[in-house]
Amino acid sequence: MTASRSARGRRAATQAGPLARVKVDVDAADQLVYKISCTACTVRSGKPWSAYRPGEDNGYLGTMDRWTFHLVEKHPDSDAPCLAFLGEAQQRLHERREGGTTADE
Ligand SMILES: [Zn+2]
Repeated sequence: MTASRSARGRRAATQAGPLARVKVDVDAADQLVYKISCTACTVRSGKPWSAYRPGEDNGYLGTMDRWTFHLVEKHPDSDAPCLAFLGEAQQRLHERREGGTTADE
């Protein structure tokens, strides 16, 4: 479990690019929780900006999509690999809205 967790974390960190700090945790229900924080941005409380989603591949995609949108909005000249999937991320966001299930906080 631990090895695959760190492997997933490395995969996510590679995709998220140099500005991201990726953390993969396990929650109380034994689900993987992906957290990507930005090393350049802080929110009003002074904490790093971060995206956070529980759950296996859905959690990975949900967190990475949020991160991708953050990069586009705040760091448009960044060259993170996940930006290659911006179109897919927008499509997924659209589908989530169409489906009426709001996963956003
Ligand atoms: Zn940022």
